[in-house]
This record gives sequence, structure tokens and C-alpha cells, in this order.
Amino acid sequence: MANAMLNLKGKRALIFGVASEESIAWAIAKQLHAAGATICLGYQQRFKSRILQLVRGGEIPVDFYERCDVTNEEELDNFFAAYDNDIDILVHSIAYANPETFAQPISGVSQAHFAEALVTSSYSVLPLVRKARPRLTRGASVITMTYLGGQRVVANYKLMGVAKAALEAVVRELASDVGPDGVRVNAISAGPIRTLAASQITGFDKMLEVYEAVAPLRCSITQSDVADLAAFLASDLSKNITGQTLFVDAGYSTLAMAELPGG
Ligand code: NAD
Repeated sequence: MANAMLNLKGKRALIFGVASEESIAWAIAKQLHAAGATICLGYQQRFKSRILQLVRGGEIPVDFYERCDVTNEEELDNFFAAYDNDIDILVHSIAYANPETFAQPISGVSQAHFAEALVTSSYSVLPLVRKARPRLTRGASVITMTYLGGQRVVANYKLMGVAKAALEAVVRELASDVGPDGVRVNAISAGPIRTLAASQITGFDKMLEVYEAVAPLRCSITQSDVADLAAFLASDLSKNITGQTLFVDAGYSTLAMAELPGG
């Protein structure tokens, strides 16, 4: 059998989570388009003007775009009623926690903030897949975005770490649920990248400095690094990979106490 190539021609990608040019989801859209996929977007209404700017800017053609708050059942239904096509690639690049929670000890988090963060950041991939399921093709790939704070304690990540841990567990369960239909589900665990979401985290710039100083590859991560992995996960090159959390983090997650002060 001939080796598969990274070729997404004829595939349709539905991408949730573009809020700005800096969004990881926008970098993924550009990379999937470059590999031949048709791009469709679901966006949160409060970012509508930015989405229109991006779509009209014409950097890449966007075949379909519609509002979709993933915590709002009616918007989800309207979105999937309007979207009338197959789905080969579904990208969930969405997270939210009340900004207060990044500065609050986890023991002080309210039930309302806990529920809001987990519904938006961990649960929401489930209704997306549920609504998309009749249109998901055999061989379809679902990709979500996570962070090391879901597996280890990272300064100032707090409640979002709990949400990412839940998301990574959801990925495993969901992969097992939809696998028999030939649908794959994976999470990308990216190193820190300066985006709107990241600007909520206190000390984010210091985090980037630490990465560049100690990550095995001595660099931080860019949106396009994440988009490269997303393109691989979207393609048939990864056809037997599912239920996984894959790191693109310059190796940071492999460290425990790699160096001692003074050598
Ligand atoms: P971003 O702010 O550009 O994207 C976050 C997106 O979540 C926005 O598009 C926003 O509209 C969307 N969103 C939030 N609540 C929503 C809702 N109710 N309905 C629909 N959309 C909603 O920031 P980003 O850094 O590109 O984040 C994308 C994903 O990557 C998130 O899951 C984030 O946790 C993850 N991630 C980010 C980093 C980083 O350092 N930036 C690292 C690892 C993982």
C-alpha cells in the first residue's frame, strides 16, 4: 500500500474557537486550508466583528461561518441546522473560566464558577460531537486543546487545570464512544502562547521566560507549531491514533528536576 501523505483535499473542517488573528484556532484554520481542507467556523457572538474582519480580509477562504455559543443549546441547534454538509475535521479550541479564579486558591472557588468553567471548557466538546455526529464521516478527526496544567500544578492556572484534567478524561471516553464509527478524538497539549485566553493568566510573560530558559528545546511554542500537529491529527497519517493527549511544548512536560542550581 502506498504511504499516506499529509493531504486534506476534499475534507471539510469545522473549527470552533477563533476570536482573533492570534487564536490557536485561526492558525489551525490556515494550516488545514494550506493542506487542502475547506474551512468553516463557529464563533462566539461577542467576537463577530473580528470574525468578519478575518473572513473579509481574505487570508484564507471561509466557506461557512455562523455564531455558536457552545453552552447555548438553541445556538448549537441553529448552527447545525444551518450547516448542511459533511464534517471530516472538528476542532474544539475553546476554554473559559471567570478571570477571578486565576488569582484565587482552588479551595475558594464557588460552585457557580466551577460549573461555568467545566461546562465551557470540558463538557462543551460533547454537545458539539453529539450534534455533529450525523455528519461526521468515517475517518473523521475531532481535535481539542489542552494544557499541562491539566496534569500537573502550574502557577496561576488553578481552576482551569481542573477543567483541562476533565477535558483530557472526556477525550478518552469520547474516543471510546465514537471509535466504532471510525471517528477519532485527540487533545493537543500546547506550551504557553500569547493569545486572548492566555492574557487572563497572571504572570504569563514570566511563564514564557521560564519555557525559553529550561524547556529541552530552549524555545517557546507558536500557534503554527500547534497547527502543524493539528494538521497531522486531521489527516490519515494519524489514522490509528485516538484518545490521546499529544504534547507540543518543546519538551517541557518531560521535565521534573532536570538541572540543579550550580550543576
Ligand atoms: P483564544 O482566546 O483566542 O480562544 C479561546 C476561544 O474560546 C475564543 O474563540 C472564545 O470565543 C472561545 N469560547 C469561550 N467560551 C465560549 C463559548 N461559550 N462558546 C463558544 N466559544 C467560546 O485563546 P487560545 O489561546 O487560542 O485558546 C484556545 C484553546 O487553546 C483553549 O482551549 C485554551 O485553553 C487552549 N490552550 C491555550 C494555550 C495558550 O497558552 N494560549 C496553551 C494550551 C492550551
